[in-house]
Amino acid sequence: MTRLPQHFFDALPALEAGWVWLVGGGPGDPGLITALGLKALADADVILHDALIDERLLALAPSAAERIFAGKRAGVKSCKQEEICEELIRQAKAGKRVLRLKGGDPFVFGRGGEEAQALARAGVPFRIVPGITAGIGGLAYAGIPVTHRDTNHAVTFITGHGSDGRLPQLDWGRVAKSASTLVFYMGRKFAGEIADVLIGGGRNASEPAAIVANAARPDQQVFITTLGGLAAAAEKSPALCIIVIGENVKLAGELNWLARLEK
Ligand code: SAH
Repeated sequence: MTRLPQHFFDALPALEAGWVWLVGGGPGDPGLITALGLKALADADVILHDALIDERLLALAPSAAERIFAGKRAGVKSCKQEEICEELIRQAKAGKRVLRLKGGDPFVFGRGGEEAQALARAGVPFRIVPGITAGIGGLAYAGIPVTHRDTNHAVTFITGHGSDGRLPQLDWGRVAKSASTLVFYMGRKFAGEIADVLIGGGRNASEPAAIVANAARPDQQVFITTLGGLAAAAEKSPALCIIVIGENVKLAGELNWLARLEK
């Protein structure tokens, strides 16, 4: 068995009493958490976690650690953001070592920024531990490099779901005209509208597109399509998915390493 170097973990900063660490758990595969994240799991008295966190990660925490589900999931009773912030502050002020474990990266469409602001305003010390975001690592698990010199020199991360529950108010004409690969989080519901505004703005309906659902999880599914076919593919896709539009999607044919492993 591999021996992990204990001295390496010992030299990392420790989650201390009265502190909150906002930690990214990565997109799915528990192996994608960082070493700092692992250390925080081992040290935490209280863990507030999302629906997206793999059970195998939570199982690493001491059995005495309190686990609090603080997630949001369509159709399931969800916690209010203010309540999550209040709980983090309350637990830290009670002298607990608090781990806020979020899917992907805490600062990418995960409201980690809001939580950190609440902590800063309440005078609670905190550390941000970045994670691998679904829009990069999830695509990598489908064999799609988020950038490649032959296909795209830029990438734009977009939420497909505005805070008012509608398609976000962006200058879609400009988004369409950028030479960038577009990566959508929370894009499934409005996939058809997204394709329409992009095609209306001048993007080609035959441009490659993909949906990576349950990325880096055991039930990962990849739908390779085109911008014009996006709406139909989205209907077949599980809810948890990343949408990517751009020439880099073509590389999946050559680079889909995970699909090859499974053969
Ligand atoms: N902070 C997270 C994103 C939270 S927003 C991150 O950095 O990855 C939630 C959205 O992220 C989902 O609606 C979905 O679009 C995307 N997402 C998160 N995990 C995913 C996964 N394993 N597979 C596909 N999409 C995922």
